[in-house]
Amino acid sequence: SHFGSRAPKATTRSRPHRRRASLSPSMAQRVVIIGGGNSGIITAQEVVKQKGASVTIIQAEEFNEWYIASPYCLTRPETHSKHVGSMDKSKIKGVTYEFGVVTQLNPEDVVLKSGKSVPFDVLVLAVGFSMPIIKPALGQSWQERSLEVQAYGKAIKAAKTVVVVGSGPVGVEMVCDVKEVAPKDCRVVLVSRGAVLSGSSEKIQQKAEGVLKQQGVEVVQGELAGEAVASATRTTVNLKDGNSLEADVVLPCFTSGFQTGFLASVQGLTDERGRVVVNEFLQCAAQPKIFAVGCANLNEFSGIAKIEPQAKTVAANVKCALAGKPPAKKHKEGNSFMKAPPLQIMGHDTWAFMDPANLPPPVACCARIGFPCCPLPCCWCCCPPCCCGGPCQDPESRGLASFMTHTATPKLMNMRMHKGAGELAPAQMQM
Ligand SMILES: Cc1cc2nc3c(=O)[nH]c(=O)nc-3n(C[C@H](O)[C@H](O)[C@H](O)COP(=O)(O)OP(=O)(O)OC[C@H]3O[C@@H](n4cnc5c(N)ncnc54)[C@H](O)[C@@H]3O)c2cc1C
Repeated sequence: SHFGSRAPKATTRSRPHRRRASLSPSMAQRVVIIGGGNSGIITAQEVVKQKGASVTIIQAEEFNEWYIASPYCLTRPETHSKHVGSMDKSKIKGVTYEFGVVTQLNPEDVVLKSGKSVPFDVLVLAVGFSMPIIKPALGQSWQERSLEVQAYGKAIKAAKTVVVVGSGPVGVEMVCDVKEVAPKDCRVVLVSRGAVLSGSSEKIQQKAEGVLKQQGVEVVQGELAGEAVASATRTTVNLKDGNSLEADVVLPCFTSGFQTGFLASVQGLTDERGRVVVNEFLQCAAQPKIFAVGCANLNEFSGIAKIEPQAKTVAANVKCALAGKPPAKKHKEGNSFMKAPPLQIMGHDTWAFMDPANLPPPVACCARIGFPCCPLPCCWCCCPPCCCGGPCQDPESRGLASFMTHTATPKLMNMRMHKGAGELAPAQMQM
């Protein structure tokens, strides 16, 4: 095997579509994308336009959940159905779908948990990161996911203590959503490993801490001992410093890494953090016919502003690969001014603020100037003037949270992706 000594052994199953030694020009080449999230969708939309490519997306779940809205759905489970849809509505024209969890990578095919082999000529890894309960578990059924969301929603509304672990953008949003719906006397704790929103500027961190304090969220410094486990029943949360918290609901809101465990046996494909090791063409350094989007060893945060340019780089290089040429498009970080999400939501009706330092310079300028230029007059049909909470300052307000989460994002996202997911409202946009 050209995957090296640790590569999985070839199985004895029959493989009707094994790659032939050379492909005739008329034969479509098989581009297989593992992952039907934003990374997979954007890549597929680009690659499917290319002549001579037959594109297959392998997707673990047979439903389409808009998990960006999870903090909202977990606290208002009655809205979950609006954020989930069948895959049928959101399938990309011309793309074939396979449902199942990939458990093994071989030199010329990937194997699903069911044992089914899916052969490829070019493979794109778009597997995303895991975040228990915030995102559906790999291979979970729609029914299981719905029941889980209902159970958490019910538990939060009856809880005496809710512990949210992780004070990044998702944790900070989640903890305020919990505060919005939990009983008045519920103790709501945010476990923070360092500063709240440590990836953002000090100014933003201070703003967030101020809002948390005002909302009565208790911030506890500490780090989880052991695995991130979500719970909707009473349990003990153990911290590394020996302290522990009793909680009725535990919501881990940090990622435990990319979902690349099945690649670990293939030598040189992933690094110690489980990120796919790529070259400047986003091609696996160890495997030229494998590319990665959204799960590579790049210093870019995970957001659509970063993923989309990665997908375009990969699509261009897949085109080269299909033509039998070496990759030509070097990856350049997209929206390089953006080092952290420019918009932070805290709950859906609590607070939101924009960080102009992470907005495109003209938008940042407009956002700072305030009414009558904020937003630009051409945007007034969707976004009325001065919706951001005040002139001549960084936009922040309760109204901004409400506007972005209930109005702007559902419209924007539904225009672009995940068309099949219910009515898509309300949701949120952070980045
Ligand atoms: C709560 C929350 C809010 C967010 N808000 C924003 C936002 O406002 N703006 C923004 O830009 N970004 C936001 N993000 C980040 C954004 O959602 C991600 O960056 C982006 O969606 C990642 O897309 P992806 O396709 O790489 O991964 P995913 O969406 O995780 O998709 C990966 C897919 O691969 C499938 N998969 C993985 N492993 C396998 C396997 N072995 N076999 C088969 N299938 C597999 C999974 O089932 C999954 O469907 C948010 C994230 C969260 C959690």
